[in-house]
Amino acid sequence: MIDVAIIGCGPVGAMAANLLGRLGLSVVVLEKEADHYPLPRAVHLDHEMMRLFQSAGVIDRVLPDMIATDGHLHVGADHGVIRYMGTVGKPKPFGWGNDYFFYQPEFEAHLRASFSANGAIKLLTGAEFVDLEQHDSHVSVRYFLNETKLHPERTEQHLNARWVIAADGSRSPVRKVLGVELDDLDFEEPWLVVDAEVEGPVTFPPITGVPEGADLQRLSVMMCDPARPATVVPGRRNHRRWEFMLLPHEDDAEMMREENVAALVGAWMRQVPHKIVRAATYRFHGLVAEQWQVGRVFLAGDAAHQTPPFFGQGMCHGLRDVANLAWKMAAIVNTGANEAILYTYQPERDPHVRGVIGAAVAAGRYICELDPAKAAARDAAIRAQAAHKAGETAADLIPAIATGFILPGTPAAGTRFIQPALDDGRKLDDLTGQGWRLFVRSAGADGGIVADDLPDGGALTAWLEAHGAQAVLVRPDHYVFGTGRAADLLAARDRMLGLRQELAA
Ligand SMILES: Cc1cc2nc3c(=O)[nH]c(=O)nc-3n(C[C@H](O)[C@H](O)[C@H](O)COP(=O)(O)OP(=O)(O)OC[C@H]3O[C@@H](n4cnc5c(N)ncnc54)[C@H](O)[C@@H]3O)c2cc1C
Repeated sequence: MIDVAIIGCGPVGAMAANLLGRLGLSVVVLEKEADHYPLPRAVHLDHEMMRLFQSAGVIDRVLPDMIATDGHLHVGADHGVIRYMGTVGKPKPFGWGNDYFFYQPEFEAHLRASFSANGAIKLLTGAEFVDLEQHDSHVSVRYFLNETKLHPERTEQHLNARWVIAADGSRSPVRKVLGVELDDLDFEEPWLVVDAEVEGPVTFPPITGVPEGADLQRLSVMMCDPARPATVVPGRRNHRRWEFMLLPHEDDAEMMREENVAALVGAWMRQVPHKIVRAATYRFHGLVAEQWQVGRVFLAGDAAHQTPPFFGQGMCHGLRDVANLAWKMAAIVNTGANEAILYTYQPERDPHVRGVIGAAVAAGRYICELDPAKAAARDAAIRAQAAHKAGETAADLIPAIATGFILPGTPAAGTRFIQPALDDGRKLDDLTGQGWRLFVRSAGADGGIVADDLPDGGALTAWLEAHGAQAVLVRPDHYVFGTGRAADLLAARDRMLGLRQELAA
C-alpha cells in the first residue's frame, strides 16, 4: 500500500507530489492525459508560492521562468486610476517579491521534471480515475490505464493508498463520486482570454493619476471601463495576456473568431508585431466545495474551489491546500502523529479561501459594471476611500488562519511567518530547513534557534520584540503556530499532534 494517491497532475497535484515525496512519503499520481495541459491559464502567483517552491525543492527549476512584477492597478471609466496595489519599494516580508508572472505549461513541466529526482514519486499518465471505495485503513482506487504503444489495450487497474488527494480540476470526477456539492458564491461573468507573443510594449490609452514610480508595462492593469472591462497582464519573456469581458449581446463563438480577437488585441498593440497564440472564453465564477474531506479523501485545488481570476489567486489557493495537507500527512507517517490532525484541513483552508474569493468577487462586481452612470459613481466611491487604502498590496488580501492547528489567542498565531534575507545572500529557510522551527530570544533548556545569532540583520529579533514574544513556533507550511514561552509552545504542539477525540468531534 502506498501513502498517498494523487488524482490529477495539474499544478496542484504535481506540487502535492513534490512536497510529499520530499517528506519521504510514497506517492502515485494518476493523470488521465498523456501530457500536461498545453495552454496557459494561470499567469500570476505570489511570494508565498515562491517560498513553497523552496520547500518542495523545485525553486531552482522554476525561478528562471518567473518574472517579478509590480502589482495591480485598477483604472476607472474616465481612464483615471481608482485603485493601486503596487509593490515598488515595499518590504518583502517573505523573502520574495509580491507578484510573479509565469507561463503555466512551462511551470507544470518543471514540476513534473522534478519527480525523477525522487524515487518515491510515480506518475502514471493515461491513467483515468473511475471510482473509489473507502476502508478503515485505506482507500481502494479504481482506474483505467489507457492504451499506449507498450500497452495496446485499455485495462482496469486498482491501487490501495492510505489517503487520496483529489487534484482533478474543476469538473473533479472524484468530487462527483463522493457526492460533494459546490457552494455557489453567486458570481458568473463570461470573459474572453487571449494570449499573445509580442515584440514590443503595450499601447495604453492615456491614463491619468498613475502613481509616481508605477510602470504600466510591469503591472497587472484592470481597465474598469464600462464600454469593455479588460485586464492587461505582463507575462514572462514575450508573453502577454489580455482578458476581455464579453458584453451581454456578444456570442462566445463569434468573439473567438480570429478577426474579432485580432481587432480587440490590435487596439493595444499599435504598430507592435504580435502573434495570437490562443483565445478562449471562460465563465469566471466563485465556487467552494461544501465538504473538503470525505473519510480518507481530500479535495484540493480547483476540485475544491474556483475563483474569478481578478487577483490571480486560483492556483495559489490550491498550492496552499496541498502544503497544508503535506506536512500533516508527513507528521502522521513519519512521527506517529494522530490521524485526527487531518480534520483541521477544511477548518483552516475553507475560510481562508472564501476570504480571498470574496475579495475577488467583490472586485469582480465593480470591474464588470457596464452601466456608465453606475461606473462613474463606483469610481467616485472608490476614490473617496483612497486615503484609507493607501499603500495596500495584494498581500493584504490574504487572511490569517483563524482556527485549526494553531494556538489561538497568542499574538500572530495563524499568520504567515517572515523569511528574511541572510547576510550571505541566502534566505532564512535555506538555513533552517522547512520543518517545524522554534525561534527564541535567548538560549534555554527547550532549544530553538536563537534569533540574535542569525545573520539576518536583526529581523527575527525585531519580529519577536514587535509581538512581545520570547519564542515563536513556525509550522512546516510557514504559518505561525503560536508565540509565547518555548516550553509552552512545544507542549501545546505535541498535545495537538497527539490529539484523538477532541479534533474529530
Ligand atoms: C483564464 C484563467 C486565468 C487564471 N489566472 C490565474 C492566475 O493568474 N493565478 C492563479 O493562481 N490562478 C489562475 N487561474 C486558475 C488556475 O489556472 C487553476 O486554479 C489551476 O490550473 C488549477 O489547478 P489544478 O491542478 O487544481 O487543476 P487542473 O489544472 O485543472 O488539473 C487537473 C488535472 O486532473 C486531471 N484529471 C481530470 N480528471 C481525471 C481523471 N478522471 N483521472 C485522472 N486525472 C484526471 C486533468 O487532466 C488535469 O491534468 C486562472 C484560470 C483561468 C481559467
